[in-house]
Amino acid sequence: MYLAGMNAEEFRSHAHRLVDWMADYMTNVEKYPVKSQVNPGDIFQQIPESAPESSESMEQIFQDFEKIIMPGITHWQSPNYYAYFTANTSPPSILAEMLTSTIAAQCMKWETSPAAAELEERVMNWLRDAMGIPSNWVGVIQDTASTATLAAIVSARERSANYQINESGYEGYTNFRVYCSSQTHSSIEKGAKIAGIGRKNVVKVAVDESLAMQPEALEKAIQKDIAAGLKPLCVISATGTTGTTAMDPLSPIADICERYNIWLHVDAAYAGSAMLLPEYQHYLEGIEKADSYVFNPHKWLFTNFDCTAYFVKDQKALLRTFEILPEYLKTKTDGQVNNYCDWGIPLGRRFRALKLWFVLRSYGLEGIRKKLRHHIEITKWLEQQILDHNHYSLTAPRSLNLVCFHYVPRQGADKDLVNTINETLLHRINATGKAYLTHTKVDGWYTLRMVVAQTNVEQRHVEQTWELIQKLAPEISRELDTQTS
Ligand SMILES: *Cc1c(COP(=O)(O)O)cnc(C)c1O
Repeated sequence: MYLAGMNAEEFRSHAHRLVDWMADYMTNVEKYPVKSQVNPGDIFQQIPESAPESSESMEQIFQDFEKIIMPGITHWQSPNYYAYFTANTSPPSILAEMLTSTIAAQCMKWETSPAAAELEERVMNWLRDAMGIPSNWVGVIQDTASTATLAAIVSARERSANYQINESGYEGYTNFRVYCSSQTHSSIEKGAKIAGIGRKNVVKVAVDESLAMQPEALEKAIQKDIAAGLKPLCVISATGTTGTTAMDPLSPIADICERYNIWLHVDAAYAGSAMLLPEYQHYLEGIEKADSYVFNPHKWLFTNFDCTAYFVKDQKALLRTFEILPEYLKTKTDGQVNNYCDWGIPLGRRFRALKLWFVLRSYGLEGIRKKLRHHIEITKWLEQQILDHNHYSLTAPRSLNLVCFHYVPRQGADKDLVNTINETLLHRINATGKAYLTHTKVDGWYTLRMVVAQTNVEQRHVEQTWELIQKLAPEISRELDTQTS
């Protein structure tokens, strides 16, 4: 026997059992503590120090999965998950992932699975057209927004250096500068580090009171750099920052980039899904003047992690940056088809288009729009509760379905005390296992972030969590006030 254990019939029976488990999990996911309550090392200690020499039964393995692994899982698919941003899935996406992992094709070139390449082209065009991205742009699926943003920075670098840094390294090309607001995601600094631009050359531009980039401040920074002999390379504009979903004003930023011939990359990693809603597409006004755009269907478009949609205007610049053709990768169809390994960093690629296709067809754009709007409506309800309550206030304006707020025990309370209360509140909420929130800081204020975006979240979940918050906050406030007085 070449592999211990499993023939097709045995596989079928195990798979049926797992599918039952999967359906039960979906039904019962609310009953688990949302944030895993284990301590560091708890799981590690339960796993043997070395790999087994002999075969173990699927029964044993599965038992340990339930006993050891499940307690260490944070339930991202719980409707009471409000942390970070969501990483949604949905039944059609899971079904597609079952097929993807069974076929297990490695879709680097067209020939290695023509359907994967051609379906990817189609579904990227579907998304592009449904979101108001210009029809002369092309799309490609990447693993994460971090990778797509790195690809944008490297493409900007190569186009600006006439593709010579790829050839001979940085000889003769120095002093590149990358701009983003003080609120933008850490992936931009990471990208600048990896691309050899250097973290110090990432210029953090000032924001206005809504935490959106100030175009005038951007232009001043660019002019100052040019006067100092530096080379403005790339601007990253955020359509929905990670902290508070602040929206940088795209069109004025794009005008500046055109004026100084700078690559403009738009990071809509989370908020991009809302661009399927005509009432929010104004956030993309000016996109035709930009060079690249990224958003994550794996956040708020009901498609399993990982799946990032990356769109570029200048397909040639992207391909000239990444294309590489050693003898063993040459095929007869090169030049006629899309070989997506040339459109980004990794050579090997999963068949990610399939799950997007399943999701888009199963819900239809109308079904997706309905869900997105539903999430935004529930968020508006929560926002109103906070506005109507004397002891709570928003720390940043709401643009979509993220509410940033804190508890304030009384007018004029000491900032450190307010922050300590809210930090304790966050940990106390999460320790109940009933909801999971994370935080940010706005203007020095410790801020609770509540992202209402999980596939199955309903009004009742948010109501219960809001009640929990209102029960815990005054308790904590009383405890801490007695301690300090
Ligand atoms: C989540 C997020 C990212 C990073 O996404 P990954 O796909 O995890 O790399 C980048 N930018 C913004 C604005 C985000 O919200």
